[in-house]
Amino acid sequence: PMIAKAEAIAKEFDFSAEDVRKGVKEFLRLMVLTAPDVGLQNDGKAMTMIPTYVTGVPNGTEKGVYLAVDLGGTNFRVCSVSLSGDTKFTLTQSKVAIPRDMMVSDSHTLFSFLAKEVEKFVKTHHADHFEEDISHKLQLGFTFSFPVDQRAVNKGYLIRWTKGFDIKDAVGKDVCELLQKEIDALGLPVKVAALVNDTVGTLMARSYTSPGSTGTLLGAIFGTGTNGAYVEKLSKITKMTKPDAQVGEYDKSTGEMVVNTEWGSFDNALKVLPDTIYDQQLDANSVNPGIQMFEKRISGMFLGEILRNAILGLKKDAGLLNASTIAEDAPLYTPWSVDTSVLSFIEADNTSDLSESKKVLEEQLGIPAANLHTEEARAVKILVHAIGKRSARLSAVPIAAIVIATGKVDNLRPKPVKRMSIVEQGLEAIKSALTGKLPAGAADIPTAPTVKGDKEKAQTEEDLEVIDIGVDGSVVEHYPGFEKFVREALREVHELGVEGEERIRMGVAKDGSGVGAALIALVAAKAA
Ligand code: ADP
Repeated sequence: PMIAKAEAIAKEFDFSAEDVRKGVKEFLRLMVLTAPDVGLQNDGKAMTMIPTYVTGVPNGTEKGVYLAVDLGGTNFRVCSVSLSGDTKFTLTQSKVAIPRDMMVSDSHTLFSFLAKEVEKFVKTHHADHFEEDISHKLQLGFTFSFPVDQRAVNKGYLIRWTKGFDIKDAVGKDVCELLQKEIDALGLPVKVAALVNDTVGTLMARSYTSPGSTGTLLGAIFGTGTNGAYVEKLSKITKMTKPDAQVGEYDKSTGEMVVNTEWGSFDNALKVLPDTIYDQQLDANSVNPGIQMFEKRISGMFLGEILRNAILGLKKDAGLLNASTIAEDAPLYTPWSVDTSVLSFIEADNTSDLSESKKVLEEQLGIPAANLHTEEARAVKILVHAIGKRSARLSAVPIAAIVIATGKVDNLRPKPVKRMSIVEQGLEAIKSALTGKLPAGAADIPTAPTVKGDKEKAQTEEDLEVIDIGVDGSVVEHYPGFEKFVREALREVHELGVEGEERIRMGVAKDGSGVGAALIALVAAKAA
């Protein structure tokens, strides 16, 4: 009965092939690139779709030494990246915890602290730069994980602080300028060249390191949260290009720009997302009910809590764990205390008596293993599998939608080359001589190759275009079978099918934030 009940709960987490297709359709509808204000309210109408001012992705030949700094939640990291131009790099980094009192100080206190960390780093690792011509500056990419209103590749006004920071006089200021001012005060040969979002960093890092790729399409994060950034045609981003758009300067020559989707807030209106009672409990107990509804079903910050809610449901309905004595203050009874790594451990447990799972349930949830029946552990594992698989299948939705929206599916099949017989060719040639037009299919005649670009070459079997995707985050990296479940769902999208799914190449962008920020600094410096 307990297993049957667990299976019934697991069924509630099903996200069918039809659901995937509906999800993709809705995602395509909400990828609004027109009005600058649509989606900003996070009311489920659209996603924010922020233009990033990054106008190209690297191809692995980039060279040079660049700095990157990362102000995230708790730490400030400084690193230098040496790009060797052959898709390889080396990275040196330092990390310092941000003192609590600085998070609630004033902007001079915080940013001069950051600038001093940059100084220490540059003096230790790039002392040569002080001897050289001081006008030759190290270019720096600034990863800043707070909401900003970006107006140029190195200009962004802080909208509000999150994650425990509260420095009132910085709100509304350009954070690049705040950092640059303090760097200049120390006389450092460093230029803040780019303001970087972490998903864009993932995209750039993957594009640099990805072997033989013509450029990565999408950078996607499945870690604490989930989000993605992709390469879009500038002409489609009308919120940038229309005459009255409130935008700063950017390089228009590439015809492309990276867009940060903020897909964590996809379908806040819950039109296509699954919504179990366990999701509802989580949302009601969250700090932001009704917001980031997609993220709340996918990412590391939430899967542990969904599992906790589902286990409690099973306990109530099927008498799970009734024989166990569980302390009142056990993590099982404490909201937000179950880490998503618990799901990875249990999913990976292949022991016949689920002894690994029992150990994790004791250590991480406070359920004493001594009284825990194998059947109970098995019931929990059924829930884990359902929640993890749903997360992965949901993750396929934005991937499929972006591949479709960017027209990548059109390049999936080699265009059938219309071959004509010699007789037909002759007739066509005569006809065209009469009308003065080139014979149809003339360019396809194999014996008469004219100079054609790489696009033509891509029509041979082995050269078919790879759709490259960079991923990052503990969930995609560590949850067993995550990519496999994503791929199963991708195949169920009619526009992709098996053929499309097989063209998609996914790879982890290692050191994504540092390398990505360095690469954006490089692209920005080149464009300036
Ligand atoms: P971030 O996204 O903050 O840069 P991570 O990618 O490491 O960092 O993601 C951290 C999140 O991943 C946390 O929510 C944590 O619960 C979850 N996590 C950590 N380890 C694992 C694991 N082995 N399997 C699945 N999720 C994990």
